[in-house]
Order: sequence, then C-alpha cells, then structure tokens
Amino acid sequence: MDQHYLQRRYLLSFDSRDIGHIFTDVLVVGAGAAGLRAALAAADDAQVLVLTKGDPVQSNTYHAQGGIAAVMADDDSIEAHIADTIACAAGLGDEKIIRQIISRAPDTIAEMIEWGLPADIEDGKIALGREGAHSAARVVHAHGDATGKYLAETLIARAKEHENIKIFDNCFVVDLVTNDDDGAVLGAITFHNRYGLQMIWAKQTILAAGGAGMLWRETSNPPCSTADAVAIAFRAGAELAEMEMMQFHPTTLYIAGATRALISEAVRGEGAYLIDRNGYRFMGDYHADGELAPRDVVSRAIVAHTAKTGSTHVFLDVRHIGEERFKRRFPQIYQLCTDFDIDIAKDLIPVRPAAHYMIGGVKADDKGRTSLPGLWACGEAACTGLHGANRLASNSLLEALVAGKATGTGAAAETKHANTKLTARRIISTNPHSDRTELDLSDIRNSLRSMMWRNAGIVRSGARLTETKEIIAFWGRYVMDKEFFDPAGWEVQNMLTASLLVIECAFRRTETRGVHYRKDFPETDQAWARRQILRRTEQQLVVM
Ligand SMILES: Cc1cc2nc3c(=O)[nH]c(=O)nc-3n(C[C@H](O)[C@H](O)[C@H](O)COP(=O)(O)OP(=O)(O)OC[C@H]3O[C@@H](n4cnc5c(N)ncnc54)[C@H](O)[C@@H]3O)c2cc1C
Repeated sequence: MDQHYLQRRYLLSFDSRDIGHIFTDVLVVGAGAAGLRAALAAADDAQVLVLTKGDPVQSNTYHAQGGIAAVMADDDSIEAHIADTIACAAGLGDEKIIRQIISRAPDTIAEMIEWGLPADIEDGKIALGREGAHSAARVVHAHGDATGKYLAETLIARAKEHENIKIFDNCFVVDLVTNDDDGAVLGAITFHNRYGLQMIWAKQTILAAGGAGMLWRETSNPPCSTADAVAIAFRAGAELAEMEMMQFHPTTLYIAGATRALISEAVRGEGAYLIDRNGYRFMGDYHADGELAPRDVVSRAIVAHTAKTGSTHVFLDVRHIGEERFKRRFPQIYQLCTDFDIDIAKDLIPVRPAAHYMIGGVKADDKGRTSLPGLWACGEAACTGLHGANRLASNSLLEALVAGKATGTGAAAETKHANTKLTARRIISTNPHSDRTELDLSDIRNSLRSMMWRNAGIVRSGARLTETKEIIAFWGRYVMDKEFFDPAGWEVQNMLTASLLVIECAFRRTETRGVHYRKDFPETDQAWARRQILRRTEQQLVVM
C-alpha cells in the first residue's frame, strides 16, 4: 500500500496541552441506530457522550425504508431466519454471531414498540413485509416505508430524555487518540465549528459512525456516509475485515437531478416487475427467484441486461399493484415518484443499482470489542461476521440494535474495572508541513467516486483494480501530505484511504463470492472461504 496512506498517525498536527478537554465514561461516535442503542445501554451504568458530525437525523438509519427483519409469524421460525442469513452470507458468515443476533430479533422488536416505534398493524397483528432471499414474510415496518425515520426519532427522543446521555451535534471526530505503548484508545480529537478542536477523553470509546456509500458515484446513502469510521480506526491501528464487500442495491431511482433514492426491495416483495425498455420482464432469464433473487444477483442481472440492450437503466413496473395499495404501503416512494411527475398508475419507474451497504468495517466480536483496548464498534461501521459476503435484507437495522445494545452494555461494564482509568495524557502530533498547491476538494471527491463506480463497483477485474490503486496512490501524494482545517478536507482524506483499502482487498480476493464479483475470476474458490483482515503499521499494510 502506498506510503502516503500509512505514514500519518493523525490527520492533524496538535499538542493536547493547547486544546480544550472534555471527560466522559463512554464516548459514542455516531447517532444512528447503533450509536444511540449503545448509548442507551451504556447509560444504565455510566455517563455517556454521543457525537454526530451533523444533525442527529443525518444518518443511514433515518433513510431506512423496508424495515427490521424479525421472526414474528406463527408459521415462521428462528431456524429459518438463521438458515436464510447463512445461505446469503455465501460461506463467510459467522454462525455464532448469526445465531445470537437473529434469535434476539423478536425481543428487540418488542422493546422498540414499547419505546414508541409505531410498527404497522394489519388485521390486529404486526404487519410483515417480504424481501428478497427471505423464506418468509418477516420484515417489521413503520408508516410503510418510513421505518428508519420513526426508528431514529424513537431512539433520539429516548436518548435526549436520559439524564446520563449528552448528544453533541455538528461535532466531527477527526481521529481516535491512542496510547503509544499499547495502542489503547483514550478518546478522540474532535472539531466543532463553534468550539474548534477539543480532546475528548473517555474510559471506553464506541465507534458507530456508519457506512461508506459515498465512496461510489451512485449511492443510496446520504452525504454523511464517507467511511470516516474505517479510516479513523485504520489510522489508530485497529483491525478491519471484509473491506472488499460492498452491497449494491439493485433499484434506486434513476432520474437526472434526483438523488439516488432507494426504491425498497419491499416494492418487489409486493409484486413489482423489473422490465427493460422493450417491456420485457427479464429477471427470469437470470435467476429462478426472478425479482426476489438475492440483491447481488439482481444488481448484476441489471448490469448485464442494460449492456445487452444498450440502455442506462431498467424500470420497475408497479401499475398492477394498484395506486391505493401502493400509496398506503409505500407513502414515501409514492411521494418521491409524484415529485418527479411519475404517475405510478400509468408510468414506469426508471431504476438502476447503487452502492448501498458496507459489509466490511472495524472487526468486532460478539460483544463489540475490537482489536484495540478501549475501542468498541457496532452497526454499519463494524464487521461482526453477521453478513459474511452478502447481507440479507433488513438484517442491518436488526444488527445495529442488537449489537448496539451488547456493545453499550459491555463498554459500560468495562468502565468499572479497577484498571480502567480516565487518562488525559500529553499527546503531540507533528506532521511535516506542506502547502505545495491549492486543491479543488470537490473535484477530487467527484473523481474518486466516479472511478470507484467504474472500476470497483458491481463488476470488477484485476486490471481495473490495479489501475485504480495506482491513481489513488498518485492522488495521495498531494492530498495526504496536507493538513485541512475543515470536515470537507478530512472527509476526502478518509474517502481516499477507505477506497484504497476496498481496492487492496478486492484485488487480493481472486474469486467471486457474495457481493464481490470478479469477471476475471467468475467462480467461487473454496480456498477463499476465509475472511480478509487487515491493519496498518507505519511501514506496511498487514493483510491476514
Ligand atoms: C436508503 C437506505 C435504506 C435502507 N433500508 C434499510 C432497511 O429497510 N432495513 C435495514 O435493515 N437496513 C436498511 N438500510 C441500512 C441501514 O439503514 C444502516 O445499515 C443502519 O441504519 C446503520 O446504522 P448505524 O447506526 O450503524 O449508522 P448510521 O445510521 O449511518 O449513523 C452514523 C452516525 O455516525 C455519524 N458520523 C459519521 N462520521 C462521523 C465523524 N467523523 N464524526 C462524528 N460523527 C460521525 C453520523 O453523523 C451518524 O450520526 C438502509 C440504508 C439506506 C441508506
């Protein structure tokens, strides 16, 4: 890996003596479902500070549509949900974690409803949606396709009421602060527009800073998903896992000028067809389960079919579902279509795939512990092994809630250990000064995202990955040598670092598995039925 991405321990030069200090028992980075659930669990036993780089509603959680997977129906079973998750994980899933998370799903739903999540009800029972690769209808939703909004609001309200929790918004975590001797995490260095740089010292730190969709030009994720968590953890020396595994969602709205808003899988679950520009319903040519095949299969089928028909996108046909039913079940998508003058009773919805869910992340065990003392991780930022090489739809909100709770409980318990102290040290970071040239940060960001989409997207090859690696290494020579004093610069540095890690792992995995498709190695190779774990040293990238 290029030296420019390895050398710097901290993005900034600083002397902790010159910066304001804040102390807390547990520091939580991120206010999505994972961070807030962790905070609420930790707050039973400790003082908790939650940081979010924007407003608390700027998160992947807030945008989630389909719902939360959980066995709720009499004719369904936990074993079936486990079996579906293992099958989807394509040989890389960790069965212990899968069992643990899936079996806690029904209690998690009961808890969220008790806290105020307005789950939809049908015929006196919790309404259940059906999504791809699930053998039963088991997706709990709220206000149709607005599950994320209502879940986020439920958790934010509860966290705000808790006397042991403080939420600081618009507070950007630049780096984790570590002890030189043993690498233990002591807290974080942060930036706030009003308060500038601050050292936040914590007995335990939880990284729940979400995903990485913004590394790709086409993404369903909101702008906050810039892979900060993995880049921050990588600089601190934590182990990361499965960085090559990014799940692409087959159906996001494809209209010039619109964000790539998700058209939930649940729409296909309700019976929508995928058709090409000639009106041909093509999914049957690619998989026996048609529109409800696993996401990676549907995404690749769309890529192959658009190449065959010479078009940029395909269409979702929902005309036969009925306007009233569609509007009731998917009020947000209905509104979105209406805003773009698409009459779902008559018109087709143009769609194409987009980067959606980062399976890889900071390696964490069943309690949320990472490889560094004092550091925990949960939610999309973490990689526990639940998803393996492919994520089963609606298992991620579930993981954020279940793993978030376990992580918060574990971190708070650790603060009580006799040898856990709140340590403020003098930490000095000195980076060589460089003001070689002015940079157009948005140009680098856009160029990176386009290149990642073209070369490290749904279909990959060794040659393209090598070219991409060389270009990112070149950009690193004049971007990673600089110090920026605002989040836009740190985000670009994090995005470049995380992209390079995706490329390194995608290049090494010379096979096709789950969401990782190599056209030069189209078969699954048993020898590759193992995780790729990596970490940084000052001299090299260590891949295990
Ligand atoms: C459009 C869409 C639809 C989805 N639908 C579903 C669904 O139906 N079911 C399902 O299970 N999953 C769904 N997902 C995935 C799911 O929403 C996410 O995986 C999950 O919400 C992740 O939660 P999280 O708490 O880990 O991260 P997030 O909710 O993304 O929260 C991350 C937090 O970290 C903060 N942060 C990031 N970087 C920094 C930094 N440097 N400093 C300070 N704070 C920082 C952010 O401000 C934010 O508060 C969907 C995702 C999208 C984008």
